[in-house]
This record gives sequence, structure tokens and C-alpha cells, in this order.
Amino acid sequence: MSDKKIPLAGVIGCPVAHSKSPQLQRHWLTAHGIAGHYVPMHVEPGDLETVIRTLPQAGFVGANVTIPHKEAVMKIADKVTDRAKLMGAANTLIFREDGSILADNTDGYGFITNLHQGAPDWDPTSGSAAVLGAGGACRAVVASLIEAGTPEILLTNRTRERAEQLQKEFGKRIKVVDWVLAGNIIEEAKLVVNTTSLGMVGKPRLRVPLDGLSPDQVVTDLIYTPLKTELLQTAEEVGCTVVDGLGMLLHQAVPGFERWFGQRPNVDVATRAAALR
Ligand code: NAP
Repeated sequence: MSDKKIPLAGVIGCPVAHSKSPQLQRHWLTAHGIAGHYVPMHVEPGDLETVIRTLPQAGFVGANVTIPHKEAVMKIADKVTDRAKLMGAANTLIFREDGSILADNTDGYGFITNLHQGAPDWDPTSGSAAVLGAGGACRAVVASLIEAGTPEILLTNRTRERAEQLQKEFGKRIKVVDWVLAGNIIEEAKLVVNTTSLGMVGKPRLRVPLDGLSPDQVVTDLIYTPLKTELLQTAEEVGCTVVDGLGMLLHQAVPGFERWFGQRPNVDVATRAAALR
């Protein structure tokens, strides 16, 4: 029998049962013929540091991190990437051979790669983006749009102060607009992004005027339950290019898998089907 170590990885959350990461990562492990395992780990906040420090000794090469631990792991890790610092949260841990723990954030990568895949003609530098919401996920969206060269980000949020805070951190390319004027910025933008939780199953509807949408726009929603939100449904009827939020979830998982298991997985039709199973 071989004494080669079987690499282990998993997702740490509380709760974690809802996570699609195990189906997704196991699909890639099988597709690449890798003898590894990926498990969901329900970890209470008080146990987080002990668990993370113990995992490498148990054969883990890394982990994904989800709610509510994304901020706390930054303090536990030995090194935090610049992009995770910029986003104030980490979603991917890499347990390195020297015993140190690296924390990274791949949400921005997932967001922008999903857009390029779903809307290949979209040029981030060609015009402004209207971004609805200013919560945790919005930081990744804003950071990646700035990095991609989007000239202006029209940002609106129910609680204006949160949008103003992002403007302070990310600078002049962000223009804060009052929530009641959300319909106006949608009309002006080349790209429309919903980063609020409005429209998600179990949450209130997104009640923003959409009559300004036009067929030359790209519209995306971070929500993936349902896959086709009312926003995407309306945008599709208008003739816009629509990109759903599932792809962001899938693409953000790619860098972690590659670092842990040594092969870069594809995000394709089979990957989507695996995540939806
Ligand atoms: P969050 O930090 O809690 O932020 C929620 C956002 O929604 C805030 O901007 C909040 O505005 C707004 N909001 C909530 N209820 C509202 C209401 N009744 N009226 C107006 N605005 C309201 O959440 P998050 O982590 O950013 O996640 C946001 C969404 O993105 C969730 O649906 C999540 O599932 C999804 N997401 C998807 C991915 C992916 O990979 N596709 C990744 C991350 C997140 P206030 O600031 O005024 O409260």
C-alpha cells in the first residue's frame, strides 16, 4: 500500500450545510483523477483558531472559509495577501509546507472572470458600472472593477454611509448616489451589478425601477438562488446580456483548488451541473 499522503481540504463555516463547495470541489477531484477529499466543517467561532491550527497536522492542504469566519481568519493567518487586506476578508486558506498559513480572497477574481466568461464582448474600460449595494460582497466587486479599469462606478446603497465608506477607501472613481436614484444610474451604466441580498429566495424583492435598461447593457446579479432573479429576467426580456451569480461562486473556487491539488480546473457546463446537484 502506498504511504503517499492523501491531500485533504474543506470549507469552514457556521452553519456550513448549505455550502455548494463540497459538490463542486469533489466534482473537480473526480474529473482530474485526484485522490483527495473535500469536507464541510461546522466550526463555532470560539473554536476557529484551534481548528485552523490543527488542520495542517491532520493532512489538510487548505480550506475555504465562509460566513461568519471570513474576517476572523485574517487575524489567525500568518500572512494575508494584499487583495484580502483590500477586501477586509479572506475566503481561501493555504497551509504551506513551512507550516505557515496564507489567507487570500478570490471573490473579486471570481466576479470578473465570471463576467468575462458570460459576457465576452464586455469591455470593463468602455463605460461606467452601476453597483447596487455596499455590503461585504460589494467590496470584491468594486475592487475588481477598479483593477480592470472601469472608469466610473456609480454606487448606491440603502444605508448611504456604507457606500461613502467604500468611496473613502477606494477613491474618486466611485460616485455615491442616493438609493432613491438607483433607477437613474441603471440607465447611465454599461454594466449593472446587484450586490444586495434583495431578490434572493426568502428576502424582499429588489424594487428598483428597471425601465432604463437597454439591450447594449450587461446585467449581473451576485445572487444565485434563484439562478434567474427578477432583475436578470427583466434584463433578458429587454435584450441585455445577463450573467448569473453561480459562475462567480464557481470561478472564485478555482485558485484554491489549483493551489491545494496542483491542477487548474475548468468552469464549464458539467461544473455548473455538479454545483446545482
Ligand atoms: P451583506 O454584507 O449583508 O450586504 C447586504 C446588502 O444588501 C447591503 O448593501 C444591504 O444594504 C442590502 N440590503 C439588504 N436588505 C435590504 C433592503 N431591505 N433594502 C435595501 N437594501 C438592502 O451581504 P453580502 O455578503 O454582501 O451578500 C450580498 C448578496 O450577495 C447575498 O445574496 C449573497 O448570497 C450574494 N453573494 C454571492 C456570491 C457569489 O459567489 N455569487 C458571493 C458573495 C455574496 P444596507 O447596507 O443598507 O443594509
